[in-house]
Amino acid sequence: MIIRPKTRGFVCITAHPQGCAAHVQEQIDVVLARGPIPGGPKKVLVLGASTGFGLASRIAAAFGSGAATFGVFFDRPSEEDRTATAGWYNTAAFHTAARKAGLYAQSINGDAFSDEIKRQTIEALQREVGPVDLIVYSLASPRRTHPRTGAVHKSCLKPIGASYTNKTVDTETGEVSEITIEPATEAEIADTVAVMGGEDWEMWINALDEAKLIAPGASTVAYSYVGPEVTWAVYKNGTIGMAKNDLDAAAKRINTTMRLNGYGRAFVSVNKALVTQASAAIPVVPLYISMLFKVMKERGLHEGCIEQIDRLYRTQMYGGNALTFDDAGRVHVDDWEMRPDVQAAVAALWSQVNTDNLSALTDFAGYRSDFLKLFGFGLDGIDYDAETDPHVELT
Ligand code: NAD
Repeated sequence: MIIRPKTRGFVCITAHPQGCAAHVQEQIDVVLARGPIPGGPKKVLVLGASTGFGLASRIAAAFGSGAATFGVFFDRPSEEDRTATAGWYNTAAFHTAARKAGLYAQSINGDAFSDEIKRQTIEALQREVGPVDLIVYSLASPRRTHPRTGAVHKSCLKPIGASYTNKTVDTETGEVSEITIEPATEAEIADTVAVMGGEDWEMWINALDEAKLIAPGASTVAYSYVGPEVTWAVYKNGTIGMAKNDLDAAAKRINTTMRLNGYGRAFVSVNKALVTQASAAIPVVPLYISMLFKVMKERGLHEGCIEQIDRLYRTQMYGGNALTFDDAGRVHVDDWEMRPDVQAAVAALWSQVNTDNLSALTDFAGYRSDFLKLFGFGLDGIDYDAETDPHVELT
């Protein structure tokens, strides 16, 4: 079939297999160009490994320090006349590239929140990998079926306490308008914490610990976001922020477990705002990202997921470096985003932006192009007019 992007609001329902492979290769090339990561991880489990920060964590571990990687993710294979999801194609391409480089790469596609997928992962690690020295927790999901209660929790992106009105951009049309989001109910806050908080991370670490699959000196990291005040109502102080507070609390408990049992450490890394399938769904944030990209690119500070994780590994976690913690015990690679000069420039643009000047004042084009790249579109060297087989085996 001829595969073209079909966007519906903040998702694209098609993905291009060769385009996704080229996107994965671009990220591999970034890491290879920076050379080996001294003292980097050797056996890595990535939860949420098929897109965004999780995929970048996997690529940087494999191609930066020759790690064997095991990935868990939730993607859809192709059907008769329907493409697979991007994460499926990304993982197929990653497996091929890693194995070509002589590296072990295996994955499980299924619900990481379930006991069954934890059991399958543990069995595979016991059989094929042994204890891991890095566990990356990078799940971003709209829902979670709780493995004990069977309840289905749905996460939402809402403010707490009062409604919130701000500018937002329609990422399909480029129309800037005001959006008002009503505050979350107590139940919605609890549900979002159940999906995006730290309980499942802790369940994973406990299960791996019981199975003796954590190596001495191992690290585990989960990702968070704080961002500037303009997004706080819908992020840091909203439902997702409450879930991230829960993640911080889980990190402290997991860190204690890791230390008591003679492993290494658990911590949360606060990352930069980037275009991923998860962030595209958050109101206001795509407009903020469009401005942020403009300002950071002008200053030569722009990074994507791969540069962020590569920097986390090289300057914080490995290479003889020590982690630098903030007062809440988190590590930051959002430091360049949060630089006062960057934030002052974004704030100045925020007050002026409207539909007419969107292209001039922001990097909306960069946002759109990164969004399409997530699904394998707009990559150099791919013939998008060519007949393409959407069926790709994941072996
Ligand atoms: P993403 O949507 O690109 O990736 C999510 C991953 O989770 C995918 O691999 C998906 O397959 C997997 N997944 C979802 N539900 C699953 C399930 N039930 N079982 C197994 N796998 C499942 O998201 P992302 O933006 O890379 O987010 C990863 C983490 O980084 C999140 O905690 C997010 O809050 C955080 N973060 C994101 C940003 C940003 O701007 N995108 C910034 C800072 C921190």
